[in-house]
Amino acid sequence: MSVKVILKPKRAQPFFGRHPWVFAGAIERLDGTPADGDEVDLVSHGGNFVARGLYNSQSKINVRLYSWQEGQPLDRTFFRDRLASAIHLRHDTLKLNGSDAGYRVCFSESDYLTGMIVDRYGDWLTVQFTALGLANRREMIVDVLRELLNPKGIYLRTEKGIGKLEGLALHDQLLWGEPPPADLSIAENGMRFLVNLAEGQKTGYYLDQRDNRAAVGRMCAGKRVLDAFCYSGGFGLYAAKGGAAEVLGVDASEPALELARRNATANGLANVTFENADVFKYLGELATAGRKFDVVVLDPPKFARNRAAVPDALKGYRRLHQLALKLLDRDGVLVSCCCTGLITMTDLEELIGQVAVEARRDLQLLERRGASADHPVAVTCRETGYLKCVISRAL
Ligand code: SAH
Repeated sequence: MSVKVILKPKRAQPFFGRHPWVFAGAIERLDGTPADGDEVDLVSHGGNFVARGLYNSQSKINVRLYSWQEGQPLDRTFFRDRLASAIHLRHDTLKLNGSDAGYRVCFSESDYLTGMIVDRYGDWLTVQFTALGLANRREMIVDVLRELLNPKGIYLRTEKGIGKLEGLALHDQLLWGEPPPADLSIAENGMRFLVNLAEGQKTGYYLDQRDNRAAVGRMCAGKRVLDAFCYSGGFGLYAAKGGAAEVLGVDASEPALELARRNATANGLANVTFENADVFKYLGELATAGRKFDVVVLDPPKFARNRAAVPDALKGYRRLHQLALKLLDRDGVLVSCCCTGLITMTDLEELIGQVAVEARRDLQLLERRGASADHPVAVTCRETGYLKCVISRAL
């Protein structure tokens, strides 16, 4: 008999609705003494089985739910099936399985595997655990990934702050196999991008923006393009490939810009310049100097991790859009990306609209986009739809 986690009265509904995070405040008591990482059954106050999950007393999320089938053991077969289903989407439906492919193999709650992200970069995988229960099972998960994807190596990435949030004592390291080569690169829409698994941001590359980069690249022929927060060159290099007259990429990270410059060379793109600067300051300087662009891309990092930080985050986005509209010539295209999950598409559109009115520019929304489909949105966990990309035109 597994340990039971009994909910307070009237608290079961979200979990019957298959949301996977059971916060401490919803729990009345435990029937048994689970160790952190153990399997538990979530039970309503009335005693009905709700779901099965993994327990962690050290996290605000006391139980993460994985199965809504009573008696389902959360064993190797279970996790193998879930991972195989995630891989099926990427290979059979999305056809992302080319040679030197880069794609997200498994995206945590989006794939009903809360607490685990797996990315593939050619012959290497990166794994990121954000749940202690899965981190404890990492040998089994590595074994399953080897069986299903046959990589040359698997690298562990850890998110800053996660040790504290989950009680995880993990650090970046090779989990299995050969270390990745220094010049590991992936193919993406006919271009090549270097990926630094050990030191790059996120798990090495921003896979979620793949389709948005392609959509923007298609609009850039003959244009002057500003790529703000360019990282390893992403949007800017797509723009250059799409025939842009000139591209200026800006980022505050020198290692990112080094990758960007090497990526430009590797793709034979010459009319691209990368500048190491703070975007807020630099865009102001460009505006003062009277510079104009036909396309401006804003792809800043996450500005808010909790609700208290949202007002300041909105101020940041507002400032960026004010600067971008100053730089955008007549009929220019503005690309507004926002990966802060707590800011919705509606919030973002309203903000863009307000800034445009204040700047006395008419503005048309052309496309409302999200992340690429290897970052699906689980309908039972809408938090998984974090990325917004609004493409608009300012008259
Ligand atoms: N557009 C990129 C991903 C951008 S990620 C792509 O398609 O791959 C966000 C980037 O913003 C990071 O590279 C980070 O170094 C940079 N960054 C964060 N704050 C910044 C700031 N104030 N000024 C300039 N760059 C910044």
